[in-house]
Amino acid sequence: SVSVVLFTSDLRVHDHPPLRAAVEGAHEVVPLFIRDPAVDRAGFAAPNRLAFLADCLADLDRELQDRGGRLVVRGGDTVAEVCAVVRQAQADEVHVAAGCSAFAQARQERLRRALEADGCRFYVHDAVITAVPPGDLTPQGSDHYAMFTPFYRRWCAEPLRKPFMAPRDVKVPHTVRSEDLPARSAVEGASPGLAAGGESEGRRRLSSWLSRHVDSYGEGHDDLAGDATSRLSPYLHFGAVSPVEAVQRARARGGAGAEAFIRQLCWRDFFHQVLAARPEAAAEEYRSRRDDWRRDEDAEADLQAWREGRTGYPIVDAAMRQLAHEGWMHNRGRLVTASFLTKTLYIDWREGARHFLSLLVDGDVANNQLNWQWMAGTGNDTRPNRVLNPVRQGLRYDPDGRFVRRWVPELDGLQAPAVHEPWTLTGLDRARYDYPDPLIVLADGLARFRQAREAG
Ligand code: FAD
Repeated sequence: SVSVVLFTSDLRVHDHPPLRAAVEGAHEVVPLFIRDPAVDRAGFAAPNRLAFLADCLADLDRELQDRGGRLVVRGGDTVAEVCAVVRQAQADEVHVAAGCSAFAQARQERLRRALEADGCRFYVHDAVITAVPPGDLTPQGSDHYAMFTPFYRRWCAEPLRKPFMAPRDVKVPHTVRSEDLPARSAVEGASPGLAAGGESEGRRRLSSWLSRHVDSYGEGHDDLAGDATSRLSPYLHFGAVSPVEAVQRARARGGAGAEAFIRQLCWRDFFHQVLAARPEAAAEEYRSRRDDWRRDEDAEADLQAWREGRTGYPIVDAAMRQLAHEGWMHNRGRLVTASFLTKTLYIDWREGARHFLSLLVDGDVANNQLNWQWMAGTGNDTRPNRVLNPVRQGLRYDPDGRFVRRWVPELDGLQAPAVHEPWTLTGLDRARYDYPDPLIVLADGLARFRQAREAG
């Protein structure tokens, strides 16, 4: 018998329930990845993610070859291609990980109907893309949790499976043709400091993170210059690292740092269950509709200055430049830049989310759109009117100014606290730094925000 395993956001061989079930149940397996133009049109195709994807596919192919198999890559409509491969390989069943987004769920249902019409069995596996499947945990009277803390309590009590080993042998039928794997070198426009993708790199990082760094995560995770977070988000996004395995190994490690890290992994599950229940929250306000975002003449110029990291607020500009250079931004940077755009500049969160998605290697609909809504005060935050002051955030999370100087070389040589408020320098001291004046006075932004919220 022959099984097809359709890989989507789960590009790994370790702890992979669909691959495990296929290998156990069939004589031969077709590990299949489809480059579907509809996925690109749905917003996936940003150079940083395409480059990282190429690494992930190359690594998956190597892992499969080590087990006697190979990866089959095809281009086209997912449903049509899976059906073609099923016919070519004379497969009896198809295995796939359950998707969370509206796009993935619709694709899954189309696939189910097409395969069942062809007499092929179709298995959808849970807890591959998230640790706990969206929809498994619900509070009384609702189909999902709107608040993180009660979700976290329930989530922690949920039993997780023991991570599966990678299969030892994967025998792939010769009859199925594969296209060439996409090459990272063929992707144009990726950020110069983009990390290397792939399961091998993801597992190496997870191991080194848990054995050497996680203990200081509790105190260090907000230190912008210290860069003391796991940087596992792209690997989790592409499924090169299993969320179940990450949680289980962090639990086995134990300690306050590991607990704090597990809590962040829970945020990922939290937003996935919100999006699965409310797919429209990818584009519309989750909590209450707002249509009073700024549309005045200067708004476009302010947005452009924000995108390019020249707002005149060093911590904002440093974080935006990190995003452009690495395709990744520290969480504290994401919070500060999102607050600045939506609350200080009062520009629509969708503009910020779109720019982030055009660059973030870990950019995904659930985490990006819902974190943006969280910070814009339209989402799941229980304190929707909180505004982060970029100067205070800088002094607190980059106390000696190292992060700012790393990304804003114009301010090189300037020490804290002045490095976080260079406009306080005067005369020649100020003239020495070729750096813009603030785009807006913070108090003016705050007044406009308060006024809008009182009116709304
Ligand atoms: P760590 O601090 O090491 O955390 C471990 C893992 O927990 C992360 O890899 C991530 O998978 C998860 N996690 C941590 N914080 C969050 C969070 N707030 N929400 C959901 N999951 C979280 N994360 C994305 O993966 N993709 C996005 O597109 C994305 N967009 C964001 C946009 C904004 C405006 C904000 C404020 C946050 C966004 N985040 C996003 C969440 C968070 O900033 C990143 O997950 C984190 O910075 C990744 O770095 P790390 O792997 O070193 O995280």
